[in-house]
Amino acid sequence: MDLKAIKGDITTIEADAIVNVANASLMGGGGVDGAIHRAGGPEILEECKKIVAKQGKCKTGEAVVTTAGKLPSNYVIHTVGPVWKGGNKDEVQKLANCYKNSLALAVENNCKTIAFPNISTGVYDFPKDKAAEIAVKTMKMFSERNNTIEKVVFVCFDEENFNLTKNEL
Ligand code: ADP
Repeated sequence: MDLKAIKGDITTIEADAIVNVANASLMGGGGVDGAIHRAGGPEILEECKKIVAKQGKCKTGEAVVTTAGKLPSNYVIHTVGPVWKGGNKDEVQKLANCYKNSLALAVENNCKTIAFPNISTGVYDFPKDKAAEIAVKTMKMFSERNNTIEKVVFVCFDEENFNLTKNEL
């Protein structure tokens, strides 16, 4: 599995799947979530609503998949990141679960290329250095047991995340 970090906007990435950081209601929000829904169009939200109607809210660390609407990728995988509350609320495990469950869903949907944002490092306030370490470690552990995903790109929106992620890699 080829792992790399780039600086950019995830809505412009052509991959089999891009990952969104949603909230539990899957109803859209700010940050990367807002950008994905704006660029992808209303089809994404329609599918999110159907998922919630069927299975209820999405728990922290879990992931669901929808169309990517007008985006250049095939699927959007929505995962709910943990809010950083000081580190004693299982935040590390929950962040690792976001990456693991998103990758598992990508495999289930025959995705070979997948793009991730730096989950939870915006308004959810996860320390960026720790988050980058967990993201890369989880990805490497996954790639040791799975060879269907060929390429994972971390699409970092800011310079700090880009440098931290690149260093971890
Ligand atoms: P969270 O609730 O997970 O903290 P945010 O959307 O606030 O969600 O931020 C998550 C990360 O996504 C942050 O590092 C933020 O800089 C980044 N981000 C925001 N917009 C985009 C985008 N268009 N493409 C990629 N990353 C983005």
